[in-house]
Amino acid sequence: MSAGNLNLLSIDIEDWYLSYDSSQITPAKWHLLESRVTQSTRIFLKLLAEHQLKATFFVLGWIAEQHPELIREISEAGHEIGYHSYNHALPVNQGPVEFEADLIRGLDLLENITGKRPVQYRAPMFSLCNESSWALPLLMKHGIEISSSYKAFQRVNGHKIPNGPFYFIHGNNRLLELPLNRLNLPALNWVYSGSGYFRLLPIGVLKSLFSQSRYNMAYFHPRDFDLSVPTTKQLPAYRNFMNRVGNASTSPKLNKLLNEFGFIPLGQAAVQLRQQTLPEIIIDSL
Ligand SMILES: [Zn+2]
Repeated sequence: MSAGNLNLLSIDIEDWYLSYDSSQITPAKWHLLESRVTQSTRIFLKLLAEHQLKATFFVLGWIAEQHPELIREISEAGHEIGYHSYNHALPVNQGPVEFEADLIRGLDLLENITGKRPVQYRAPMFSLCNESSWALPLLMKHGIEISSSYKAFQRVNGHKIPNGPFYFIHGNNRLLELPLNRLNLPALNWVYSGSGYFRLLPIGVLKSLFSQSRYNMAYFHPRDFDLSVPTTKQLPAYRNFMNRVGNASTSPKLNKLLNEFGFIPLGQAAVQLRQQTLPEIIIDSL
């Protein structure tokens, strides 16, 4: 690892047809679409095995129910399993009661499959925000120790989300937040470290951006590695386009980055970060 750099490796386990908050194709119709999540996830698993690396897998509850053997395979390979909501409903649209029920359902589900209760959570689309900060005490209440649910530079009740690891403090509890980092230039807060952004940027630019930032949250979806993502009339044309553009470049580019930079999963980062003093955001008043 380059001195002082923290590069995290994560993937959100959902299928190719999911986009945004699952409003484009209703979850009731998901079972009618071809499932490609297992074969696409295995491309990423193979790449990790070749580099002898571990990553954090944030799993959709619906996928865990449909493909428990895939989740067991990931867990038995020594990777970390976190929860990514049951069907990608945004917490801000769920409200506290529905959110808490969703959280319990998913943690139970993943514990039943892997034998371990997850302590990591990522909100769909890094979507926790000012209007859904009530979710933080609920995450703590249900044993979540690590969240990756905010975007750097967002404003939450007057606090600016740091472009790196920090703690949310609530009473005697603390939650490590590992946000999605962004390019730190005025009016150019670009995301570059994952998914479509990663697929579109040339490897030279990616290398330069990853080396310049002290903290990088690399995040992928199984479809980013899929060379044959289907198209469907149920998605708008731009989504069909975005699902496929640059996919052939994901594995080769990630392979190069993994050769050059050190990457660790979020849980391993949390252990290292315990030795350090991090910024804190006190949420009692939110
Ligand atoms: Zn997602």
